Formats: sequence, C-alpha cells, structure tokens
Amino acid sequence: MRRFSISALLKEAANGHQGWERQWRAPEPKKEYDVVIVGGGGHGLATAYYLATVHGITNVAVIEKGWIGGGNTGRNTTIIRSNYLFDESAALYNHAVNLWEGLSQELNYNVMFSQRGVLMLAHNHHDVISFKRHVYANRLNGVDNEWLTPEECKEYCPPLSISKDIRYPVLGGALQRRGGTARHDAVAWGYARGADARGVDIIQNCEVTGLQRHHDGSVKAVETTKGVIGTKRVGVVAAGHTGVVMSRFGLRMPVESVPLQALVSEPVKPVFPCVVMSNAVHAYISQSDKGELVIGAGTDQYVSYSQQGGIQIINHTLDAICELFPQFTRMRMLRSWGGIVDVTPDRSPILGKTPIPGLFVNCGWGTGGFKATPGSGHVFAHTLATGEPHKINEPFSLDRFRTGYLIDEAAAAAVAH
Ligand SMILES: Cc1cc2nc3c(=O)[nH]c(=O)nc-3n(C[C@H](O)[C@H](O)[C@H](O)COP(=O)(O)OP(=O)(O)OC[C@H]3O[C@@H](n4cnc5c(N)ncnc54)[C@H](O)[C@@H]3O)c2cc1C
Repeated sequence: MRRFSISALLKEAANGHQGWERQWRAPEPKKEYDVVIVGGGGHGLATAYYLATVHGITNVAVIEKGWIGGGNTGRNTTIIRSNYLFDESAALYNHAVNLWEGLSQELNYNVMFSQRGVLMLAHNHHDVISFKRHVYANRLNGVDNEWLTPEECKEYCPPLSISKDIRYPVLGGALQRRGGTARHDAVAWGYARGADARGVDIIQNCEVTGLQRHHDGSVKAVETTKGVIGTKRVGVVAAGHTGVVMSRFGLRMPVESVPLQALVSEPVKPVFPCVVMSNAVHAYISQSDKGELVIGAGTDQYVSYSQQGGIQIINHTLDAICELFPQFTRMRMLRSWGGIVDVTPDRSPILGKTPIPGLFVNCGWGTGGFKATPGSGHVFAHTLATGEPHKINEPFSLDRFRTGYLIDEAAAAAVAH
C-alpha cells in the first residue's frame, strides 16, 4: 500500500494526480475464507482490519450487499463520546476513544477526528441529578466529564441561549472535552484501504441470503447472491438489518429496527465550536468542516425499514434547536435522511457468540454506534480470532437477555447517540 504523505502529494501534484491507485480492489469471492464478515459498515471493516493487523488472519471476506459505508456508517451525525454511566459501557466506549485518538496515524488516512467537546444539556431537576451522577461515575472510571453552570455552558458554546424564559431552560451541562466528531465516510474508507492492503477481500453488491451448517450444527458456508462461500467463522455486523440476516440463519434476535433521522443546513462560516446534545428536547447539533449545521433527531416510535422516518420527528427537533439557538431560525435546511437502527431493550450492544457454533454477532448499537467503531472492531476481531470474548465485550453477550444481567443505558440516559 502506498502511504499518503507530503512527498506523495507533491509528486502527484506535479503529475496532475494521474498516478493514485485504487484504494481497494474489487475481487470476486473465493471458494473459502477463514472468516466471513457480513456487512461492510465501519464496524465490519474495522473488524476485518484488526483481524489482519492484530491477529494475522488475512484470509477474510467482508460481504456488503450495497456499497461500503452506505448503511448507518455514512448516515450518522458522527458524535463521539464515552461518558456512559455503567462501568461496562464506559470501558467499551473509552476503549474506542483511545483508539480514535491515534486512528488517522494508524490508518495513514485522515479520519478528521476533532475533539471539540460534547456538551450534554440539563433542562430539569432529573437531568441535573442524572448528569452529575454520570460525571462522578465517569471520573471513577477515568473517563473525563465535568459539570458546567449555565453561564459556563454559554461561554463554551456562545450560540446557546440560556434565557430562563424558554420551555426548557438550560440548568447546566455535562462536558466531555475528549468527545467530538470524525468524518464518517473516511472511517469506512480508511479501514477498507488498510484491510484490503493486508489481503482482506471486500466484496460489494453481494447480499448474504442464508447459512449452511455441518451435521453437528456448526457453520459450513454462507449463501450469497454471488454463490456459496465456505467458512468456519461468520461475524454478522449488519446493524439495522441484523434481525433479517439472523432470521435467515434461523435465529430470532432481541432487536427492533427503527428509523432515525438527521438533517443538514446550508453551509455557513464557522459559528458552532462544539457538539451540543439535549436529551430532554431530543436534539443534537454540531457544525461540519464544510460549514453545514449537522442536526440529529430522535427515533421513530414504530418499527420500520423505510429509511425515511416521520416528518413530525424532524419538526419537533427543529423546534428544539430554534429554541436553544434562536439565531438559527433563519437558516435553510438542505437535506434530511434516515437510517435503520438496531435497538436492544437495554440500549446496549450485543457482541459475541450465538447458539450456532462458529456464528458471531455484533449489533444493537442503535442510535450510538459510530463512536464505538474502532473499539467494537478491535474487540470483535479478538472474539472471532479466539472464539472467546475480549474482557471488554464479555458483559455484552447475547446471553444477558436470558440471565437478566442487562446494562441498562436506556434507563441511565434515555439516549445513546
Ligand atoms: C441518523 C443517524 C444518526 C446517528 N448518529 C450517531 C452519532 O451521532 N453518534 C454515534 O455514535 N452513532 C450514531 N448513529 C448510529 C451509528 O450510525 C451506527 O450505530 C453505526 O454506524 C453502525 O455501524 P455498522 O458498521 O454496525 O452498521 P452499518 O454502517 O449500517 O453497516 C451494516 C452493513 O450491513 C450491510 N448488510 C445488511 N444486510 C446485509 C446482507 N444480508 N448481506 C450483506 N450485507 C448486508 C448493510 O448494507 C450495511 O452497509 C446514528 C445513526 C443514524 C441513522
């Protein structure tokens, strides 16, 4: 793989940029692989990358029914943070933030990770108590999080209105300075390029339609629209379509798939220095490097695969944004879109084994899995390589819905973006 560098850029600039190679190949599937990953989103590609780099397993195929990063990886609002309440979640998401901090260098690909800080607003007494509890719990886990007064919130984010005369006045906020955003497409492309360079086959426009098993029940092959591919290990990383894939394999998953929407404004000069989230009014906002305000909404209330979502959900979010940032009432919105998110009952992911020997699953990231991409790929690669969970993903087994050892981030924060 040719490294991106100043000298490579200067050389190409002198040649009219004619010499850049394709960033990954477009191979036809082989008859057999050591590991097959179903789903070419950020998590699937990161898993393949760490299988190759950490575990030396390179006979791997990532099978993607559309194009890589075309699922939720390319549709999300890119908020990255690790200030989750429970110890298990803090460990998982902080593992990811640690990896984000060196990711551009590791991949030799600029993922534009920007630690501009994530400020979570408190609007009522319950929010204040709950966020302060998060701050204390996070600090015990070595995760940075601090409490700001309304005036300090305003200082950190000048466009914020701290007027007391609005429906949901700002009573304070929890700030994680290490949090921020990254460029979602670049994350998928960087992992794809790194995995491909080490021999991983990325097979796009190929849908996995079924699973073949040996007499003892273990995995034998996957059936795809490009034929049958033999393998002993399959990792399903299909986000909102996990339920569909797993039902084709004969398993029913504890996930519901619902639309989640986002929208962007026309681009403007830099006006918004950080990320602001408000769980109570359900809106979150940041500004992209292109200048667009990137705004996210809540999920639809109904299970659906529509990739659209209800207009009333976006209206509700824009009401909240205009109340918190009155100057944005004059902005024009350019486009909106939806993704299908896979929501578990406790809003925590499922990462590990399934009852079928050789079949592993990584799903349930719901509205908040982009931030976990490097950490998720890293621990899932360990699980696929060794057949056993990494200690970080051990608590996130499918089994917890049988044993009752839930990690209830839904009750903790009501939102997980
Ligand atoms: C609007 C929106 C806003 C969000 N905001 C945030 C945020 O701010 N911060 C955050 O952390 N998270 C956020 N998320 C959640 C985040 O996007 C996801 O949790 C994360 O991107 C999931 O990554 P993934 O790689 O698992 O899934 P995906 O990127 O969806 O990849 C799964 C892939 O599997 C493929 N696939 C499905 N079925 C098959 C099949 N049968 N055969 C082959 N391939 C198949 C799909 O085509 C897809 O490309 C948001 C999501 C949405 C929709």
